[in-house]
Amino acid sequence: MKAATLDITTAARDGHYAVGAFNVFDYVSMKAVISAAARLHSPAIIQISARTAKAIGPVLIAQMFSDLAARVDVPLALHLDHCPDVQLISDVIDAGWQSVLFDASHLGFDEARQLTRAVVAKAHPRGVAVESEIENILGVEDGVGSNEARHAYSVEQLVETARYTHTDLLAPQLGTAHGLYTSDPVLHPERVTEIRALTDMPIVLHGGTGLSAAEFRAFIGAGVSKINISTQIKRSYMSAALADLGSAREAERWEPLPVFDAVAEAVSAAVEPLLRVFAGKAV
Ligand SMILES: [Zn+2]
Repeated sequence: MKAATLDITTAARDGHYAVGAFNVFDYVSMKAVISAAARLHSPAIIQISARTAKAIGPVLIAQMFSDLAARVDVPLALHLDHCPDVQLISDVIDAGWQSVLFDASHLGFDEARQLTRAVVAKAHPRGVAVESEIENILGVEDGVGSNEARHAYSVEQLVETARYTHTDLLAPQLGTAHGLYTSDPVLHPERVTEIRALTDMPIVLHGGTGLSAAEFRAFIGAGVSKINISTQIKRSYMSAALADLGSAREAERWEPLPVFDAVAEAVSAAVEPLLRVFAGKAV
């Protein structure tokens, strides 16, 4: 069932677990994540990159989500991931999505604050929650972001900005990065503790792919309430499609539907153990 992103994430914060936010790319992967969440009786956030939102269209995505969410009784929200494009955010609000990440990490401090505050002022009257990012998470995700740390602020500056902008969820830099890790990241769960000492706003961990269960637990223990997973879903999706297409070619089997089944199974299989870890259960 459809639920507000803020309700899902504050329940996670109060229950000392994290809700998984999984990037999906089409109906097949969206359905696979929702099925996995329903099987585990777990809330989940269905996350869409700005690129995917533009490719499919915010209205069609909202319709697919509404149809699938109505079939299960776990709380689900539709969320726009990293978006610096104010027009796309406006289109998504009009289409009835539950929340957006306004990515202001490419802007200077003052401009980021002003623009984030303006986005929140547009979103809140429509019941849409805003995740804010003014420090950049390392790595490039679907054409958004940078591999260089451009903006880094004190936790006091982050919290003061979140208050000033009336942001709902906060995405600070925590040492993680988008994409696959080529060396061990230096993680900063203590930054979560420091922020949580100043505010009870739900905190978001980006770049979750590749972290161990113990690393997730450290972040959740420190107070992270939403964990984003994108790269792992992409890899599961593409690997399953590749394997199935390879066997289809060998068998001269030119039927598309089995590819979708293989992809759905792989995406669900990637999501389920993560949902268990985020819920604080043994894998
Ligand atoms: Zn991210």
